[in-house]
Amino acid sequence: MAEIDLNFSTHDRLTSGVSPWGHGAARPRYHPLKDHLKVDALVVGGGITGAMMGQHLQERGLSVAIVDRERPGFGSTLTSTAMLMWEIDRTLTELETFYGYERAVGIYRRSAAAMAGLAKLVAAHRIPCQFRPRQSLLLTSNHEGARDLATEVELRRRAGLPSSYLEHCDLFTEFELDRDAGIFSRGAAEADPLLLTWALLDIATRQGAALVDASVTRVHSEGGRVTAETEGGFVIEAKAAVLATGYTLPEIDMPKLHRITSSWALSTVPQDPATLWRDQALIWEDSHPYLYMRTTPDNRIVVGGEDDDTADPETRDAKMPGKIAAIREKMKRLWPKADTRVATSWCGTFGETTDGLPLIGPVPGLANVYGAYGYGGNGITFSYLATQMVGAMISGVQREWFDDFAMDRDGPGRRSDVGGRSAVEMVVG
Ligand SMILES: Cc1cc2nc3c(=O)[nH]c(=O)nc-3n(C[C@H](O)[C@H](O)[C@H](O)COP(=O)(O)OP(=O)(O)OC[C@H]3O[C@@H](n4cnc5c(N)ncnc54)[C@H](O)[C@@H]3O)c2cc1C
Repeated sequence: MAEIDLNFSTHDRLTSGVSPWGHGAARPRYHPLKDHLKVDALVVGGGITGAMMGQHLQERGLSVAIVDRERPGFGSTLTSTAMLMWEIDRTLTELETFYGYERAVGIYRRSAAAMAGLAKLVAAHRIPCQFRPRQSLLLTSNHEGARDLATEVELRRRAGLPSSYLEHCDLFTEFELDRDAGIFSRGAAEADPLLLTWALLDIATRQGAALVDASVTRVHSEGGRVTAETEGGFVIEAKAAVLATGYTLPEIDMPKLHRITSSWALSTVPQDPATLWRDQALIWEDSHPYLYMRTTPDNRIVVGGEDDDTADPETRDAKMPGKIAAIREKMKRLWPKADTRVATSWCGTFGETTDGLPLIGPVPGLANVYGAYGYGGNGITFSYLATQMVGAMISGVQREWFDDFAMDRDGPGRRSDVGGRSAVEMVVG
């Protein structure tokens, strides 16, 4: 079995620059692993996915250990623009082409339910993470795109999803946005992703979870038990393990629908509130490469995009000045009232799938080991979906639709090239 590249996987290989999140909050307290541990559920990774997973499994009555080898929340979570949406990177129209109407609609409805569940979670625990319900606007800037959006809205209407079509004149008169067409949707939100992660870790640890500083190097599954080896030589034994290692991929035979992408983002100086767009909706423009934009409670504009397939950190960082200049230019064209002076800028590398869906569920060949990889532009909504699915799976619940997100699922329009795996051991990296 080949070893995973450890250098690639550290936070500073995945992210750089300064993002605006986490100000004024206390970091969660975590301790080095000093002994072997035995728990019901081990969660590897303390980013937004691991934090949400750990909190959920603890709430389900399991004893939980959440393990991170660096600072929890400082992986991809720190670079997220945290636009929390049920709209998936792939439109319903595209998913229908891939998987047929019934399956595509089921996936969209589950994403919408996950978004609503995430909002309820924040409300139930009164999580201070600057969570604000928002509407979202998907924009197109050409006639062909306008036709596609009209088709998309018709499909969403049939599926009972809360979206409506906006023509150029609606967009212009209601939102002062000069684009050919758009889709207006309800049910989105925004948050500070680091505050959300830390608060969830805090809730989980107050409920009894252990938050541990350790690097998991190997996971075994044998006889209904999972054991994880750590760098310091300690072993964590669990009934189930969940890998939430973000874009640090464990050495699993992934279907070829996975790929690595980088995205660049900036936060402006505070704007005069009177110059911001209506309702401060979340905006994403379906251009190539696309642009996404939101505001913060202190009236900054956070805007990102210019995604490309750069994976090498040095190359990605070298592109920063050019990418940030391009984003500023596009922001100015989309919203001419913006003061585009940059307060902070950053970039992050993340994983995507060709069908825009996350990788959630049993790790092929490893009994009682689950993966929770909420990939793509709405990874955080998928992190919540992962908590519900994996929580149910650990309790023995199986649903046919779980296969839609399976780690070894078939990609769009072709058979899976992932063979049956018999090994019961893997390297996490
Ligand atoms: C620029 C950018 C913008 C984005 N914008 C949005 C957005 O607007 N909305 C949205 O929903 N999503 C967005 N995303 C995606 C979202 O940020 C991610 O889906 C999410 O942060 C992933 O969180 P995670 O917990 O899975 O991974 P991470 O935050 O990377 O956490 C994984 C953790 O696992 C730890 N780890 C890894 N390997 C091991 C090991 N072997 N042992 C112990 N610990 C280990 C790491 O140290 C890390 O802390 C964006 C991503 C980027 C890069």
